Amino acid sequence: MKFRKYLRGRGRVLAFVFIASVIWLLFDIAALRISIINDVNQDLKERESVLNQGRRKDNVLKHPLQKVNIDKKEFLKNSNRFDRKVDKVYRKRPMARPEKQAELKQDKHLNPMSMADKSFVKQNEVINQSKVNLIVNSLVKGTIISIPEKINKTNTVINGKVKNITTKINKIKAAFNGQTDANLAVKAHLLTKALPAVQEKAHPPALSVKKVHHINGTVVMPHNEVHVDAGLRKNLSNELLKPAEGDKLKNIIENSEKHGSTFNKTKPDIIQKSSELKAQDPAEALQVPQPTSVRVRRSGGHHKVMALDVTDRPRDPRAVGQFGQPARVPRDKEQESRRRWSEGFFNVFLSEQIPIDRAIPDTRPQICSENLVHDDLPSTSVIFCFVDEVWSTLLRSVHSVLNRSPPHLLKEIILVDDCSTKDYLKEQLDVYISQFPKIRIIRLKERQGLIRARIAGAAAATGEVLTFLDSHVECNVGWLEPLLERVYLDHKKVVCPVIEVISDKDMSYMLVDNFQRGVFRWPLVFGWSALPEEYIRKNQIKDSDPIRCPVMAGGLFSIDKSYFYELGAYDPGLDVWGGENMEISFKIWMCGGEIEIIPCSRVGHIFRGDNPYKFPKDRVKTVERNLARVAEVWLDDYKELFYGHGYHHLLDKSVTDIGNLTEQIELRKNLKCKSFKWYLENVYPDLDAPLVKAEGLSQHFSYTWLRILRQNTSCLAPQEKLIIMEQCDNTKPHLRWMHKSGKALVSTAQNLISRDSKTDKLINKCIFLKDCDPINTFQKWQFTHYYPE
Ligand code: UDP
Ligand code: MN
Repeated sequence: MKFRKYLRGRGRVLAFVFIASVIWLLFDIAALRISIINDVNQDLKERESVLNQGRRKDNVLKHPLQKVNIDKKEFLKNSNRFDRKVDKVYRKRPMARPEKQAELKQDKHLNPMSMADKSFVKQNEVINQSKVNLIVNSLVKGTIISIPEKINKTNTVINGKVKNITTKINKIKAAFNGQTDANLAVKAHLLTKALPAVQEKAHPPALSVKKVHHINGTVVMPHNEVHVDAGLRKNLSNELLKPAEGDKLKNIIENSEKHGSTFNKTKPDIIQKSSELKAQDPAEALQVPQPTSVRVRRSGGHHKVMALDVTDRPRDPRAVGQFGQPARVPRDKEQESRRRWSEGFFNVFLSEQIPIDRAIPDTRPQICSENLVHDDLPSTSVIFCFVDEVWSTLLRSVHSVLNRSPPHLLKEIILVDDCSTKDYLKEQLDVYISQFPKIRIIRLKERQGLIRARIAGAAAATGEVLTFLDSHVECNVGWLEPLLERVYLDHKKVVCPVIEVISDKDMSYMLVDNFQRGVFRWPLVFGWSALPEEYIRKNQIKDSDPIRCPVMAGGLFSIDKSYFYELGAYDPGLDVWGGENMEISFKIWMCGGEIEIIPCSRVGHIFRGDNPYKFPKDRVKTVERNLARVAEVWLDDYKELFYGHGYHHLLDKSVTDIGNLTEQIELRKNLKCKSFKWYLENVYPDLDAPLVKAEGLSQHFSYTWLRILRQNTSCLAPQEKLIIMEQCDNTKPHLRWMHKSGKALVSTAQNLISRDSKTDKLINKCIFLKDCDPINTFQKWQFTHYYPE
């Protein structure tokens, strides 16, 4: 009764307020508890991962996927999207340009296949054509100078219009004589001026030079905006890119909507299929017998880039995959096609159906065919290294070089067989190749890996320039001269064609975007990055202008032979595959050279989901080891960023033996190469590369990428319950601390998460270690400046 009294009148209100306050308080405590638990769990998770990195023996932390809890089905479904950290990031497919796609779609009526359907090449023309071929061949050899009357009157069909064949012959004759297009009657004064292709235009500035802040004498780069495209967005779940974290992820995605793409390491989002490309003039794919010798006129003059496409038989426009069209597997062959996939990890069955010398669409920017190059370009040795390559793709690669390279510039083709296991690559290949005097095969007795195979190929080469190609490519018309022109202008220019995409599924030839650079992200992960629209506009970059690249994809490039050796070739300590593109890229830039992509040179490449060859040792370990060699020789202090982004375990030399580096380090010294800091500032200023994760003002402690707390050369180390300063050593796991802004410093050396109700005190003015207590403010730490992850 007494109690009821309080629930009447004003008492009732008071009681209500009291109860509400109690409930509120209970909620508050619960919320705090949850947040504490989350914090602790987060710290524990990270600590677990750092501990793993420290103690890794062999199978911990191999692959980002292993850190994500994904079931196998889901993994297989996404296997293309989840880039393997190091072992499949190389030479990923570049992107297509959306506007270009729209533009090209409008030209669909020029689709070469539709021409084929309408039987553009009539039988009698094929016969006439072969006579034309003979004549052109003779012209090439310089054995005839006039065209017989009968042929002169022959008409052919070009792009649906009837044209006189003489025009065609004149074009070729002019090209071989080192003149410009006879039809266009280029005026003499043009030839004495600097001409479009040979004019050395000043390069636009390096992309987005960041504002530089100084903190205590240390240069601090503010982090750039990260722009991502849809492809990258798909990959943000992937550890590789590292930025994905709460708000930051949101920002990135918002930015991507505003700015378009800059980094793409997986398949392109949009690719222009050959069926949507402009038709190539079928008569351009002129069917001419293989010329054997050409007298070169070394006049110091110029001529238009030769758009040669020479075949020894008339092309069948209805052949499977002709003109780079997608090919289809007949119903009754589906099983066979699936079964044979793993022979090359692309559609091997379809590849076999496609003519070895098929025509592909000329995807060069329009101006390229008008560009002039020097008459006295250096000759090149084309080097194909292969191991267990599929027969049809190997030969298509070889024929694309034979058919589309000016013979006088193609000194030889060197096939380096890296100890293949397939029978057809032995005698059968020898017999086939014996038809072509320009081709040589070098057989390696032991499997050497791509890098040493290339070194062997280079050693045998007699051309002035080395051109390395993968063994599943198709060189497009006019691919070679624009590359050699750049090397001719400056022998320290190392040049790459635009790598286009040959579909692994239907073998169609696809156009890619012109404005893409080869770049990398930590930990040395290769990717493509589109030049921002604004940069292109501001610097008036034309779609045929060379694009300077911080790193090259690695598979396809030309380099002056003497410069290659001046640079000490490749580090021969690199095994099998991977990392060599980083090595040669850093070496080139830091030791006086340049890397360019030449949009007028285009080569298709089959990007595969897997390697059809075995790695003698574990694949991931091989690539990691290669990258560690590169980091040790070329990255200076920045190697911490490499190790700190998931490769701590490589620091333990008792686990990973990266081999002897003395020669490589000597080489860098002897060549007086510039520092990696110089490279970052001058070649790749848009990369975020803060040397430490965080740093402070007064006593200048920094928290490094290897999670070490450093003050000059001394580092914070736990000793029992005390903390001492110890000589820094990146390889010692006990020196690593977990830390995030405003959060605890948690030693990874001991398990300190347990209950402790004692008060915190400083003993003898020292920091001491005690069990973690997330609500204890004495355990919160803050550096003055934190860099983005
Ligand atoms: N290759 C080689 N030896 C090796 C590994 C690769 O000769 O141990 C050749 C391979 O046949 C191909 C080139 O090197 O022609 C590049 O390899 P791949 O195409 O597998 O690399 P990706 O293009 O997938 O990066
Ligand atoms: Mn390849």
